[in-house]
Amino acid sequence: MIVADRKPLEEILKHVAGCGRILVLGCGGCVTVCASGGDRQAEHLAAQLRLAAKGQGRAVEVTVKTPTRQCDREFLEPLRADIGPADAVISLACGVGVQLLAEVFEAKPVYPALNTTFMGAHTGPGTWTENCRGCGQCVLAETAGVCPVARCAKSLVNGACGGTNKGKCEVSKEIDCAWYLIYKRLKARGDLSFLRAEREPLDWGKSSSGIRRTLVHPELTDTVPASAPAAPKS
Ligand code: SF4
Ligand code: SF4
Repeated sequence: MIVADRKPLEEILKHVAGCGRILVLGCGGCVTVCASGGDRQAEHLAAQLRLAAKGQGRAVEVTVKTPTRQCDREFLEPLRADIGPADAVISLACGVGVQLLAEVFEAKPVYPALNTTFMGAHTGPGTWTENCRGCGQCVLAETAGVCPVARCAKSLVNGACGGTNKGKCEVSKEIDCAWYLIYKRLKARGDLSFLRAEREPLDWGKSSSGIRRTLVHPELTDTVPASAPAAPKS
């Protein structure tokens, strides 16, 4: 899932200082699961905004809505009646949802309440850990299901580097060396051949550090909005 974290209240307040009507929009997707931007967190932020305004002696009307997802136009269109009268919208979606919201309601100031951080897994109570950087050329089949891009501090695809020490990464003793994990898992499977094979370097032009990427499923294009950007030529 996409993992995100709440911004400090002070940062959010700066954007809506002069607003009398604020709509706080939660998101029912990933940020609900990682307990950062769901309906509960939206209600909490709304209460904080009301209290802050009261403390300043200002009248403010704060309402809350939480659509199924903010990264899908289908769930944004029904919000028109709520968004229309608002002076500003505060979105608790990830950056994907905030951008689509700002695009669909171009005339409305839309502010993010979260810092979008990474794609991760639930790894313990209240804990999410980065597992993927969306490199666009997944090598997990060769690395026994351990991502060297997200989990090796140097994103090496032909690791390990010389700094690995007793299973820990040289960058931090708190971090497992991804390539040690890969080695252990491949060894347990009784096949280290993948480790010995030389892998081509990743094409970083296909990763999130390159141009904006688009995925098109041709069989579904009837339902793709006309304004969706064209897929880059590869
Ligand atoms: S290899 Fe690339 S696509 Fe696969 S998990 Fe790692 S970052 Fe994600
Ligand atoms: S010690 Fe392991 S995880 Fe750390 S940079 Fe080197 S190969 Fe990557």
